Amino acid sequence: MKGTVHYEVRGQSALLSIDNPPVNPLSSGVRQGLFDGMTQALADDAVKAVVITGLNRAFIAGADISEFGAAATAGASLNDVLNLMENSEKPVVAAINGTAFGGGLEVALCCDYRVAVRSAPVGLPEVKLGLLPGAGGTQRLPRLIGAEAAIGAIVSGSPIAAPDALKLGIVDQVVDEDVVSAALAFSDQIIDSGSPTRKIRNLTDKVIADRERQDLFVQAAANLDQTHRGQFAPAQILKCIEAAVYSDDFDAGMAVERSCFGECLAHPQREALIHIFFAERAANKIPGLSKETPLIDIQSAAVIGAGTMGGGIAMCFANAGISVQIHDNDPEGLQRGLKVIEGNYARTVAKGRLSQQAMDERMALIQPAATLEAFGDADVVIEAVYENLDLKKEIFTKLDAIMKPGALLATNTSGLDVDAIAACTSRPEFVCGMHFFSPANVMRLLEVVRGEASSPQTLGTAMALGKRLGKVSVMAGNCPGFIGNRMIGGYSRQANLMILEGATPEQVDSVIYQFGLAMGPFAMADMVGLDLGWRARKMQGGSNEITARIPDALCELDRYGQKNGLGYYRYEAGSRAPIPDPVSLEVIERVSGDLGYKRKAFSDDEILKRCIYPLVNIGAQLLDEGHALRAGDIDTVYVNGYGFPSHIGGPMWFADAQGLDQVLADIRRFHEETGDDAWKPAPLLERLVAEGKSFASLDA
Ligand code: NAD
Repeated sequence: MKGTVHYEVRGQSALLSIDNPPVNPLSSGVRQGLFDGMTQALADDAVKAVVITGLNRAFIAGADISEFGAAATAGASLNDVLNLMENSEKPVVAAINGTAFGGGLEVALCCDYRVAVRSAPVGLPEVKLGLLPGAGGTQRLPRLIGAEAAIGAIVSGSPIAAPDALKLGIVDQVVDEDVVSAALAFSDQIIDSGSPTRKIRNLTDKVIADRERQDLFVQAAANLDQTHRGQFAPAQILKCIEAAVYSDDFDAGMAVERSCFGECLAHPQREALIHIFFAERAANKIPGLSKETPLIDIQSAAVIGAGTMGGGIAMCFANAGISVQIHDNDPEGLQRGLKVIEGNYARTVAKGRLSQQAMDERMALIQPAATLEAFGDADVVIEAVYENLDLKKEIFTKLDAIMKPGALLATNTSGLDVDAIAACTSRPEFVCGMHFFSPANVMRLLEVVRGEASSPQTLGTAMALGKRLGKVSVMAGNCPGFIGNRMIGGYSRQANLMILEGATPEQVDSVIYQFGLAMGPFAMADMVGLDLGWRARKMQGGSNEITARIPDALCELDRYGQKNGLGYYRYEAGSRAPIPDPVSLEVIERVSGDLGYKRKAFSDDEILKRCIYPLVNIGAQLLDEGHALRAGDIDTVYVNGYGFPSHIGGPMWFADAQGLDQVLADIRRFHEETGDDAWKPAPLLERLVAEGKSFASLDA
């Protein structure tokens, strides 16, 4: 059995110390150890109270993931342990020395009191894996802190810092150090006070008060539509908390929790979320890189271009405590960029999510540089100038002359040839792509693009740097658009073809929204601005792509999108809500007629497949070519960079769930019906279907 619990008697109390390095998950040995320790303490008349703490870094970081999905494991169950604790007539105090997540916090909630060290976060993150706290968390937390706060904590699954946990009433005392001594002193006090136990299951004040707030659960359900649209587990959590509030019988509430937990466990969303959880971790494993790969020591950074991306990237460095210089060849652009950064931080301060002091420290880490020459000593430079290959080549030629030997040279290009950029330098082994997503200070995804010459040291450093900046990094091969943008090209193209063929923008957008993305392709295009692509096409002498005809026609009529209130949709002043507009529909029908289309009706099912299956087919090509290492990497890119719903697991996981034979049959039908070579099935997809395999089987 993995893990153990040490037993000793300190003064009037038994001290149980959980020992299961590094983070004390609740594996079989820990559960049995707690059970045995409680039994021993209860049987010893000299022991008046029990203090439970963790050795190592955590109190209890949660369930043991390695036991996930395994048949019932040996030893005491968690419920056996919790029952023993909760029925104990001797008070039990949790000495929370570090992370108390999931089952860890549920153990603490079965204690009579909780003392935490200031640095320890607590939380119930089960929702992130499509589950809910299944060991009484949904019943005890509302009794302790009230339904509204419990909903906030359990539905978000976010970690709660100990001082906030104290304010909420989750813990009873916070100390700066030596939490064990503090908890022993606390237990002495309650023994002396003569009223030793305080079982959360018997607390009723908060839930009785909550019964007066009739709109509480209606409002909470409405909020879910904003924060967790389409997700199963959060709605189940509300059901459980509602049971905690409205049932006088604690055990009846526990029965609701048990049944809701079972439904979550059996739900396909849970598997999809667990897939993404593991895929994000697997993305770090890169063939040819190991823990021994030497890395460049990154102490300072430099960014070229103070536009949308450069500013966000500079913030990423400052947020991670790394000093960063930023240069723009347009001095006004540089000042504007710095103002935007300052404004972003100021808004976060105004929302109370950052202290003024932290903002000042971060701003001080961001240094404007009047010339590129100032960058010479930086350990890493990230180029974020306009998306133009000649310009990027010119910049890298200069960087080669300026940067010290051994510095990492990265481009933030969205899809240009990293090898062509590296070839302008005498050190292509130090060049790679680091493709951030907009807004760079917010989006979690980073594509690290492997050039032909990029060395393991360069790639390892870029991946490790991504982690330091708080990103989920995925390795991509050097092909046009890399992973994410190459795939999204297929999606946008089909959306644009469908409105030529007879669908309306709102129909396409509504299908994509219902599927779970924050917005469809046309609302997105209006948000980005139709004029950007239009101007770029004009600069290149126009485009022959028929999919450019509608946005070009809209721009000719000064319909640029949200920025001027008219695009595919119209917008009321000051609002970002798209309103269907007959004028844009007329434009669409005219262009479609001019191109000889006979407009036809589309079913929602057809629209969804036409949008999502290009992602799958191109994803399969990327895997076949080795430009993506794993199907899970592609899913990670889509969930973290493109707003693909995590509870659907990403496009490749979605395709597996549909059945790859079905997906291939539809792709073949689209190929036949349209004669469009973009629908030529990827050879890998055909092979997998012939062999009866899935994308997931490739990663196993
Ligand atoms: P932007 O137009 O907002 O900013 C580009 C900045 O580069 C401008 O401030 C410009 O003055 C500056 N610049 C141009 N030439 C320069 C030079 N020679 N020296 C120094 N500065 C120079 O562009 P952006 O949206 O930030 O995009 C920058 C890069 O990031 C592009 O390669 C783009 O493809 C990529 N990218 C953009 C996004 C996005 O959503 N905007 C996402 C990922 C990647």
